[in-house]
Amino acid sequence: MNMFTVLDQAAARFPDRGAVFSGTEQVANWAELRDRARRLGAALRARFGPGARVGVASENRPEIVELMFGIWAAECVFVPLNFKLHPREMADILADCDAATVFASPKLAGGLAGAGVGPVEVLGTDGYAEWFAGEPGAAPDTDPEELAWLFYTSGTTGKSKGAMLSHRNLMAMTVAHLADFDDPDENAALVHGAPMSHGSGLYIPPYVLRGARQVIPASGAFDPGEFLDLCEQHPGAAAFLAPTMVGRLVATGRPRPANLRTVVYGGGPMYVESLKAALDAFGPVFVQLYGQGEAPMTITGLRRADHLDADGGWAPDEVLGSVGHPRSGVQVAVWRPDGTPAEIGEIGEIVCRGDVVMSGYWNNPAASAATLAGGWLHTGDMGSVDARGNLTLRDRSKDVVISGGSNIYPREVEEVLIAHPGVTEAAVIGAPDPEWGEVVVAFVVAGGSAPTPAELDAHLLDRIARFKRPKRYVFLDELPKSSYGKVLKRELRERL
Ligand code: AMP
Repeated sequence: MNMFTVLDQAAARFPDRGAVFSGTEQVANWAELRDRARRLGAALRARFGPGARVGVASENRPEIVELMFGIWAAECVFVPLNFKLHPREMADILADCDAATVFASPKLAGGLAGAGVGPVEVLGTDGYAEWFAGEPGAAPDTDPEELAWLFYTSGTTGKSKGAMLSHRNLMAMTVAHLADFDDPDENAALVHGAPMSHGSGLYIPPYVLRGARQVIPASGAFDPGEFLDLCEQHPGAAAFLAPTMVGRLVATGRPRPANLRTVVYGGGPMYVESLKAALDAFGPVFVQLYGQGEAPMTITGLRRADHLDADGGWAPDEVLGSVGHPRSGVQVAVWRPDGTPAEIGEIGEIVCRGDVVMSGYWNNPAASAATLAGGWLHTGDMGSVDARGNLTLRDRSKDVVISGGSNIYPREVEEVLIAHPGVTEAAVIGAPDPEWGEVVVAFVVAGGSAPTPAELDAHLLDRIARFKRPKRYVFLDELPKSSYGKVLKRELRERL
């Protein structure tokens, strides 16, 4: 089984329906998309052979869809690059996986060539068109354990590692999405707000399998107004968005677009106050995922219905602040440092296993052995499970602040800071301290007139234990974030 199958099946069922759109303009129907993927597949296979790693460096563009399936049709490996990386960082990744070639958008091609990468195939050129000029290849018949996608981690903690995702992993992710979260059909659309090199791209297969159109904003970026317009213009709109993107939609003050059906959010913390504001603005269209590149998009989740209580109001804060239940086909546990299971409510490391979990990191046996020790994926995230089986995520284990021997989970302090009316964003880290080991420092983005440290202290003391209070507040205009919307705590530490 090769992931190309999902396109093959959609094209057989819905040949004439629109498959890929740039904004509101149709770029290809399903038969055309399959044909292009098969031609590209034959050309890649002839040039590089099965198993070759093929890089894709581009802001969101329609070609990414044909590249993904064309690379799979060739039985090659799709290696998308975060388009906001420095060209040298991209060059490092391409060298790490010994990529046979890289397809790049005109915007990024020059930077890559400048960083010594070659050859670079530039999208939209005559050279690109040549890849589609030959005969279409046959549909591949591939061992599902073969590598399909090298998913380079965001590298917020150091050098980026390539999580090896097989066709089986991606099919497990696809099936779990359709089982747990969304039920699209040929009258639905996946609108790519977030980068297709990451979360939004991983959602392409489930929507393609059901014949749901792929909509790529013409700007290639996330513009809240453009995104909401597209969710009016296309039927049955669904999207994956980082929590910060959801916040930007809410800030437009616009109502829910008539066709917006599903917003999957995740990849970073969604604070309870922000989630309630989003639910108030757009209604119960939200679904939360907790996952990581190593178990793509699929560890636990909160369904639409989990956001509601029995009377139709919003669910209690402890549910909205959780990451929900294990996803279909995934076993999730919380372990103590000695590997024994934690009690209900006890915080430990989150581990999981199932068909969705990667086989290891590319060319990195030491990291693979540590992360997959005992056959479980060690997520590096800390959390606890309540009596109803809901998982609450605390923080990455390396982000936990240990002050005077007590563990302080930044997320808990951030949740309370965010609930202050004068605070729009907050990030909490530990700073080295000779007396306490570490002390809590809060970076705060204020909306309107900034609250004073004394006011924030009073607000926190009303709600959480005194020892969790920040010893210092730093006011910023904005928090440093990756292009995937993750707050870069490493940069905050460097600033101190
Ligand atoms: P990545 O592999 O780049 O997608 O990053 C995965 C990490 O993002 C996870 O290990 C978590 O630390 C974090 N993360 C993912 N989903 C959530 C979520 N729903 N809430 C909070 N953090 C999340």
